[in-house]
Amino acid sequence: MKIILLGAPGAGKGTQAVKIAAKFNAAHVSTGDLLRKNIKEGTELGKKAKEYMDAGRLVPDELVIALVADVIKDADSFLLDGFPRTIEQAKAVDRITEIEKVLNLQIDETLLMDRLTGRRVCKECAAVTHITLLNGADKCALCGGSLYQRSDDNETTVKSRMEAYYKQTAPLIEYYEKQNKLINVNSGRDSADVFKDIEKILMQRSVNRVSAAEKKYN
Ligand code: AMP
Repeated sequence: MKIILLGAPGAGKGTQAVKIAAKFNAAHVSTGDLLRKNIKEGTELGKKAKEYMDAGRLVPDELVIALVADVIKDADSFLLDGFPRTIEQAKAVDRITEIEKVLNLQIDETLLMDRLTGRRVCKECAAVTHITLLNGADKCALCGGSLYQRSDDNETTVKSRMEAYYKQTAPLIEYYEKQNKLINVNSGRDSADVFKDIEKILMQRSVNRVSAAEKKYN
């Protein structure tokens, strides 16, 4: 499968990506995670990316395109989470490979600030939770690891990230609509319910592929 997950910051892309990757055995490619890894390791890319990420701005196209191109050029099953985020990035993907479907996670904008500023991430297993679900606990319910708050999950940076989303990323909805690849998913619900819908969409896609292949050979 070659799938893109589109959606505003806080729409649940990361949470759904982990579930999809496990269920459908696809590589989960998150540019946010790759950039944070580079920052942690102190690479040149990490140093350049950090100032953009701290300001809630997008990292320049040429840097992220180079990062992803290498991973997807020979892969036949992947899921892009947080990439592409600009038309330029989408065109770069089209030059490298053929995307099957784009799942657009839709959510009421008023829910996003609370989702992001209350988000806590496990240092060990990267599971994502929300402060209201923790009842004062400071450890991950899944693995017992320590939880932290991402440095860009503060109100000021979230506002810039939302601005970047509307200006630079939202135009991708029309871009993929025109390619007939866009499927909208209501993401303002419990993540397990959202995943059930996504599972159905992706299973259907396999059925369609099998019947198309049967038609070809019958
Ligand atoms: P995320 O983890 O997807 O929320 O991304 C965190 C930050 O990493 C974003 O606010 C951007 O600064 C940067 N970033 C991640 N993906 C991209 C991308 N495709 N293009 C540019 N910047 C990105």
